Amino acid sequence: MRYFSHQNVATASDGVKSAIECEGKSCFIAGGTDLLGILKDDLLPSYPEKVINIKTIEGLGNVEGREGGARIGALAKLSALERDPTIIELFPALAESAASVATPEIRNAATLGGNLCQDTRCWYYRYPHHMGGRMDCPRKGSGPCHAVLGDNRYHSVIGGKRCFAPCPSDTAIALAALGATVEVIGADGERSLPVEDLYSPMGNTLRGGEILTNVDIPAQPKGSVQGFKKFTVRKPIDFAIVSVGARITALEGKVSEARIFIGGVAPGPYRDEGVENYLRRKPLDSQSIATASKKALLKAKPLSMNAYKIDIARSLIAELLEELTR
Ligand SMILES: Cc1cc2nc3c(=O)[nH]c(=O)nc-3n(C[C@H](O)[C@H](O)[C@H](O)COP(=O)(O)OP(=O)(O)OC[C@H]3O[C@@H](n4cnc5c(N)ncnc54)[C@H](O)[C@@H]3O)c2cc1C
Repeated sequence: MRYFSHQNVATASDGVKSAIECEGKSCFIAGGTDLLGILKDDLLPSYPEKVINIKTIEGLGNVEGREGGARIGALAKLSALERDPTIIELFPALAESAASVATPEIRNAATLGGNLCQDTRCWYYRYPHHMGGRMDCPRKGSGPCHAVLGDNRYHSVIGGKRCFAPCPSDTAIALAALGATVEVIGADGERSLPVEDLYSPMGNTLRGGEILTNVDIPAQPKGSVQGFKKFTVRKPIDFAIVSVGARITALEGKVSEARIFIGGVAPGPYRDEGVENYLRRKPLDSQSIATASKKALLKAKPLSMNAYKIDIARSLIAELLEELTR
């Protein structure tokens, strides 16, 4: 790892101010479970001169229930979310997604904000600089996306543009299904955006120097059920090949609203309106689930090696929806 200076900040505004003073030559660190590996492997387009520690910001580690919803500080640990009684009771999809991440050791250090803002896991992007040279690509500022002509079995099947890396965050998929928003603070003050809008094909949509401070989950509609499911190659400690987050609301035995988000297939949580529209005004039963799940990812344009993800997504949606009927 190369030299950098390290600064603890006491408030989010101080963090933003410090980042802006560095003119793009700094980065934030929370749990460090992603960032430290990235610095060791020298993956960033330019090496930061300063690492700004945001773990020292007071009051961003809490989970607060609010009128049936919750406000979760960006520094809340994933291990806290999987165990928090409010989250388990009101937002089991989020608890399940947090519990599915990595190992207990990593979940004890990793924060929710870091999970949402983590960098891509594309194996070309992550190729360590010290192992035979740097693999440049659009995310690193120049070069082609190696996945297009290379081994793209783990890449996006929809929505990729210059970069085909899928969003690696499990909690993003569950939070998008729950209609959560993130609050961020930057040079222009505070703004909030739906979780799914935090992602673009070239990485997250945070502007330079912005810090994600809180995640707000609204009260879930009466009569709704929710869940999260993930398919991995290795069972423990693995990123999703495909994941699904769903919230289904029923009124008088028929689906009044469905939110279905698929992970591992697109640069961000992919909202599948084909499945949602089919389910609306139908009873949630084996017949509607079988037909609805086949409508998933109809607009996908898979690369040479990843069309299998479409079948997995359809099976996963069917399995999750079946579970939600029980
Ligand atoms: C072996 C292994 C297995 C893993 N498996 C999974 C998995 O199955 N599913 C999954 O979802 N993830 C997985 N991960 C990723 C892991 O969840 C992330 O490394 C972790 O959540 C990042 O959180 P952190 O607090 O350590 O972030 P850091 O490493 O500190 O930061 C990560 C990035 O986010 C930025 N950042 C952090 N917090 C903020 C904030 N509040 N505002 C703005 N920017 C911020 C940092 O600048 C940095 O760029 C795995 C990681 C490892 C090492």
